This record gives sequence, structure tokens and C-alpha cells, in this order.
Amino acid sequence: MIKTAETVWAACLEFIKDNITPVGFKTWFEPIVPVKLEGGALTIQVPSKFFFEFLEENYVKILRSALVRELGKEARLLYDVRLENSYSSKVPQTVKIPSSNRAPMQPQNVNFPSKNISREVKNPFVIPGLQKVKVESNLNPNYCFENFMEGESNRLGRSAGMAVANKPGGTSFNPLMIYGGVGLGKTHLAHAIGVQVKDKYPDKTVLYVSTEKFIQQYGDAVLKNNNRNDFLHFYQMIDVLIVDDIQFLSGKTKTQDAFFQIFNELHQNGKQVILTSDKAPVDMQDIEQRLLSRFKWGLSAELQAPDYETRINILKNRLYRDGVEVPEEVIEFIAKHIKTNVRELEGVVTSLIAQSAFNKKEFSLTLAKGIVDKFVKNTKKEVSVDYIQKVVSKYFEIDLATLQSKTRKRHIVQARQLAMYFSKKLTKSSLASIGSQIGKRDHATVLHACKTVDNLTATDKQFKKYVDDISKKLSF
Ligand code: ADP
Ligand code: MG
Repeated sequence: MIKTAETVWAACLEFIKDNITPVGFKTWFEPIVPVKLEGGALTIQVPSKFFFEFLEENYVKILRSALVRELGKEARLLYDVRLENSYSSKVPQTVKIPSSNRAPMQPQNVNFPSKNISREVKNPFVIPGLQKVKVESNLNPNYCFENFMEGESNRLGRSAGMAVANKPGGTSFNPLMIYGGVGLGKTHLAHAIGVQVKDKYPDKTVLYVSTEKFIQQYGDAVLKNNNRNDFLHFYQMIDVLIVDDIQFLSGKTKTQDAFFQIFNELHQNGKQVILTSDKAPVDMQDIEQRLLSRFKWGLSAELQAPDYETRINILKNRLYRDGVEVPEEVIEFIAKHIKTNVRELEGVVTSLIAQSAFNKKEFSLTLAKGIVDKFVKNTKKEVSVDYIQKVVSKYFEIDLATLQSKTRKRHIVQARQLAMYFSKKLTKSSLASIGSQIGKRDHATVLHACKTVDNLTATDKQFKKYVDDISKKLSF
């Protein structure tokens, strides 16, 4: 018998009916209309976005099982979501959204061994007094490998992450340290590893925690409750520990000690540790040497800014998941202009969708240009006089106090003048305000600095190189 959307869906319904409550079935499954069957992908029409979200949240597992029974492992589910307010038009307007195929993460029940522990272990994630130790993984199922587009910029990190997920604790990538600038996918990749471990090894306890949260929990454990040991024991019983933005441990000696103990115990017992940071271990500051040296035991993988191809892929994946169709030229335009970071890329998409929905506009190139312009401008605006001073002092390898001091040494005067010049150029601060921020000078000094920089740029090659270098650093 040839399979059609109708026959496949009818068979699915039969299976689903046997496995859920009659009310659930009537409410959420009877209104669904099968639309199309194409290459292992079944499209079903649902009456609203809310309906779609409810199905995805509550019934995604059963839908998946039913579909796999009928169409095999490669089966895919697509939704035709009927848009609200489109009931007046004769032809219903719909958007296409793929199923995430992922249920929300379930809490993990963990049996804590009683060695060394006289009392019940307290889980710093839950309110004290609860008996059972339920460990929420804190993983976001949408941050999975399927949604993490591969490219030259992330290949090492992505494949090392995969290897770790397939064999947690069993590779030489322990710890796996993922580092790179903001918005390049560190948090996403770290979650993806955890999500995949839970897929493959449901019994392993995975825990994602931000370093800020870890620090706060440690403080609470020690200061308020005096149970540092409980805190350590809790973390030492995790199978896969993911700690995000570890650079925030900088300067926190006590918390570093605690983390050191947890790390050692986990590592000795073949448990997996995954860390992320905005810097490579060699560049981290105010972190104890013994901890740094452990960070280097496994593999450090850098995430870099994605290249053009990857940006296109990320955009397309994002739009596909949001169920919107955007002309190719618009996608290309965005990918060409937003280069530094994936979070911005996504920001542009969000604005684009919002704008076109509010103003009932098409996804035109003109609309995209307006939005991209705004984004680029906003990024520039974020540069502050403070930030400029820091960049300039770092470039000349002098400290901030020296830059602001009264010294008349030539190279320091030049550095100071450059800081003033860039402040005038890149911020909205007045001459007077720039002057007062850069070593309490008056507006005339700033004006003089700007003129001097202009003159020197035109006449002095070395000086022009300074200006070019610093410009680059400031235009991230
Ligand atoms: P970071 O932690 O490095 O600051 P995030 O992991 O928060 O960055 O990523 C920012 C956003 O960009 C997230 O929404 C993430 O899903 C998305 N993103 C980053 N890299 C990729 C990628 N390779 N493919 C798809 N989405 C990505
Ligand atoms: Mg992050």
C-alpha cells in the first residue's frame, strides 16, 4: 500500500490514542490535519502557534515514537502553523516550523553514596529541607548539536565536544576547555555536549552551572550554613560537570580552592569536566597556578568568529526554526554586514521578524538595511571613554594611571592625545567631559590633542600606524 499523509497520520493517531488520556487526545490531536508527506517528512497543520508550542512541550516524545514506527528512524515532523488573525482571508496563512524533536530536560534522581557523609547531602540548587536529591541538569534542550552550525571557526571545539559527549571522561579531552570572545557559541556548545550525554547515557548525572552561580552557592554554603563539605560532596558526585565562564573565578581565592578540590576528585574518578572561558588559559589573570595548570591538562579549543558560509548557515537554520521565509538576498546582506558575533546575527533576525510582523512589511532588502544600520551604529555607540583609555594604554603597554598622569614624556603624551582623539571621534562626550575623564584636563587640551593627532597622522608614518592599529581594536 502506498503511504500518504492521511494513512500515515491515521496510523500515528491510533498509536497515540492508546498512549495518552482521552481528553488529551480529543483536545490536542483531533484538530490536527495531515497535509503532506514528502521524503520521510510529514507535515501537519495545527490551528495556532500556541497549539504548536503545547504539542512540542508535552507530546513531542509520543509524536516522535509514532512517526518513527510509521516512517522509520529518519522520520521528520513539520508543522503548518495557522497564523492568528488570518481567519478572515479565504486562504489560511500559515508558517512552517520543524519539530524540535526534543522534550524538556527531566530532573535526574541521584543516589548519593553515604561514604564520608554523616547527613543527607544538601543540594545547593534546591530549597533546604527537601528529602530526595533531585538534580536539575540546567540544560537547555534547544542548545543541541543539531542547532550548532559547523564551520572552520568552530570545527575543533565542535568535534572535540562530540567526542567528549560520546565518551564522557573517556577521552584525553579532560577537562575540555572552550574559549573565545562573546557571542561566539561557548555556552551553546557546552550545553550541546551535556544534552548529547543525556541522550546517549540517560543515567549519567549532568550538571550545567555558570561560574557566577557557583560562586554564589559557595558563598551561601560557607557563610550562611557552614557546610562547605556538603557543597563539595554535592559537586563531586556529578558525572559530567559543565562550568560556564570560568574567568569569573579570577581573584576569588576561596572559591578557587573549592573548585580545585572538586576538579581533582572528579578527574581522578574519570568524570568529565567541561569549562568555558573568554580567554585562553595562558591569558587568564588572578587564577591560581595549580588551577591553571589543570585547565591545560586536557584540550583547549578556541571558538572564532564564523566565516561568511557559516554565518549564512546559522541564519538559515535560525529562520527555519522560526518558521519564516526570507529572500536569499536579504540573508546574504545580513551575513555580509554582521561579522563579529553570532548573538548580533540573531539579534538582527529577531528585529527583522518583529518589524515585518508589526508593520506588515515584506522581508525586503530595504527593511534589512535599516535594521543592520541600526545595529552597526549601536555597536559603535557602546564604546566609552573608559574603554578607549583602556585599549590605548594596553596598546602602548602603559597603565591607566600613567596615561592620565601629568608626565610630559613624549610617548605618553602621544598615547594620551590618541585617547582624546578617539574619544572625540567615537563617543558623544563633549570636549570638556573627555578632558575631565582623561586625567582632569580642560576642553582646550582635548581640542589641541585632536588637531595634533590629525597633523601627525598626515606627516608621520609610524604615528599613522598607531592610529590604524587602535582604530581596528576599537571597531570590534
Ligand atoms: P557565548 O557563550 O560564547 O557568549 P552563546 O553560546 O551564548 O555565546 O551564543 C550566542 C548565540 O549565538 C546563541 O543564541 C547561540 O545559539 C548562537 N550560536 C553561536 N554559535 C552558533 C553556531 N555555530 N550555530 C548556531 N547558533 C550559534
Ligand atoms: Mg556564554
